[in-house]
Amino acid sequence: MENKIIFATGNEGKMREVREILSDLGMEILSMKEAGVSMDIVEDGTTFEENARIKARAVQKATRALVLADDSGLAVDYLNGEPGVYSARYMGEDTSYVIKNKSIIDRLKGIEGSARSARFCCAIAAVFPDGSEAVTEGIIEGVIAESPSGEGGFGYDPIFYLPERGMTTAELSAEEKNAVSHRGNALRKMKPLIKDWLGRQGL
Ligand code: IMP
Repeated sequence: MENKIIFATGNEGKMREVREILSDLGMEILSMKEAGVSMDIVEDGTTFEENARIKARAVQKATRALVLADDSGLAVDYLNGEPGVYSARYMGEDTSYVIKNKSIIDRLKGIEGSARSARFCCAIAAVFPDGSEAVTEGIIEGVIAESPSGEGGFGYDPIFYLPERGMTTAELSAEEKNAVSHRGNALRKMKPLIKDWLGRQGL
């Protein structure tokens, strides 16, 4: 497990982004499935940071590896920060994002311009093999689009519009999204902390 990092997610969209951003660490990045870990983790924290720590600790306890976990979501200002930490569970875990996205657009009917402001937030927790922990956070600001657009990304990307780019995050290439995304920003902050830890182990 020395040159491996387990990223505690079952979300393939996230794995693609994480592999791309951490590629220069020279470590193999495994999903939970690839690491042979299967567990139901109760994400009962009330913040992104708490939930990220809960996931990373659970997988680290089971594997003793270097484990990263993220918790992320969409916070819409007009909806008082909803769906927030409940982004994946909004309208039910199994409800399609076509329906979830339509619901958010419908709830913002008649709301215009900057009053449609929203942000994607991400906390990344690392639990190292010696049990020490680190957390970093990243955000990206945008507005809720009037209608869904774009095929890239996942989840709420088709309705997350970046005014300065004139497109949604689902219309960005994977590289473009990684360069500006909440997860990209949090992971880029985490990278030096992982390098430091590895350096202290002489790795
Ligand atoms: P988590 O897996 O518990 O962190 O839940 C995150 C949820 O927030 C995802 O299932 C998506 O619904 C949403 N989300 C987080 N990051 C993104 C993103 O980059 N694009 C679109 N939706 C996202």
